[in-house]
Amino acid sequence: MPVERVLLASPRGFCAGVEKAIKALAWMVRVFEPPVYCYHEIVHNAHVVAQFRSQGVVFVDDVEEVPPGAPLMLSAHGSAPEVVVAARDHARTVVDAVCPLVTKVHHELKVRSRKGYTVLYVGHEGHEEAVGTMAVAPQSARLARSAAEVDEVASAMGPDVPVALLAQTTLSHDEWSGIMTRAQERFEALWMPNRSDLCFATTNRQAALKAIAGRADAVIVIGSANSSNTRALEKVASASGCARVLRVNGANELPDDLFGTVGVTAGASAPEEIVQAVVARLAPTEGVEEIAVTEEDEYFPPPPELRDLLRGLAAVLALGLGAPAPKGDSSEMSSEAVAAGQGPGAGQSSKGAAGGALVGDRHVSAADVLARLAG
Ligand code: SF4
Repeated sequence: MPVERVLLASPRGFCAGVEKAIKALAWMVRVFEPPVYCYHEIVHNAHVVAQFRSQGVVFVDDVEEVPPGAPLMLSAHGSAPEVVVAARDHARTVVDAVCPLVTKVHHELKVRSRKGYTVLYVGHEGHEEAVGTMAVAPQSARLARSAAEVDEVASAMGPDVPVALLAQTTLSHDEWSGIMTRAQERFEALWMPNRSDLCFATTNRQAALKAIAGRADAVIVIGSANSSNTRALEKVASASGCARVLRVNGANELPDDLFGTVGVTAGASAPEEIVQAVVARLAPTEGVEEIAVTEEDEYFPPPPELRDLLRGLAAVLALGLGAPAPKGDSSEMSSEAVAAGQGPGAGQSSKGAAGGALVGDRHVSAADVLARLAG
C-alpha cells in the first residue's frame, strides 16, 4: 500500500465512560462463575464484546432472559428506569455501568418533565441511549431527529409553551447544532443545559478529527457500525471535505488502494490495539504524525454496587483468613499494588482480587484489563 504518512488523531478511542464499563465487567467476570449476564452490549464494539463473550459473558436484550439470581451488568448506555427495577427484582447482583454523563441527561429530563416542560430529545431512534433516556419521562419526551421535526412540534404546540432541548451524548456537532438552531428560532422560552449534552469525549474526538481530515487523502474511522459516536466521526470527516472516509472494524477490512496521507481515528469504544494494527498495516513510508488537540484526564470511578460487592467480599475473606477487615475503599492504588497487577483480570484469584478491591482503579487501563483477560 503506497501510503506515505499517517495522521493520527488524539484523543481517540476509549473514553472515561467506556473505561469504567469495561473494567467493571471484567471485575464481574473475575468474581462470579460464568455466565455473567450483561443487558445490551457493554459498549458498542464488536471486538470488546467478543472478548467478553469468550470469558463467558452472555449479552441479552431483555432482563427476563437472565436466570433468577444470576449476576447482571447494565451497559454503559444507560437503561430505562423500568429495566433497572426489573433487573433488581430478577437478578441476585446488579451492577449498573451507566456513564455518569448519560445519567446527567436522565436527570435533566426528569427535572424538566416535573416542571411541566415538553422535552425535545435530539437523538437516534432505537439507539440504546436514546431509548433508555426517553423512558425516564415518556409522557414529556419527544424525539427530534431533524429540524423538520422541530417545526412539526412547534406548529402543533405554538411558540410560547415551555420546551427544553436535550441530546444524546454522542451526536456529531453539526447534527446537533442544526436542530438546536431551529429550536431556538421556533421556541421563545427554550430551556437548554448550560453546556450541550454532547459529552467531552464526543467533542474532543470530533475536534481532533477535524484537525487532520482536511490534510488527508482518506480518513479511516475505527469502530463498530452500531457505535453512535463512531458514525458521528464519519460524518465529521465527510463534512470536513475529505474525499474518502472509511469505517473499519479492524485492519483486515482496510482496502488495498489507499495512498498518500491517511488520517486515522477511533470511536470511544474502539481499543487502541486495533488502532495500532491499522497503522501497522498502512505502513506509512514517511511515518506517523500524531495531532493532539487536547489532553483528557477524566476518570469515572467504578459503579457503587461493584464497590459494595467487592468491599463485602474482601471483608468476608479477611474474616476467613483472620485478617482485619478492610475499611472504606481507597481510590488510590500504591505503585507496589499496581506493579503487583491488582485489578480485574490481573491473573490472581478472586480472593486476591477482592483483597485489592478497586484500590487504584484510576491507574489501571481497560486496555490492560482486556489484554490480561485474553491472556
Ligand atoms: Fe460517557 Fe461520552 Fe464515553 Fe458515552 S462517549 S460513555 S457519554 S464519556
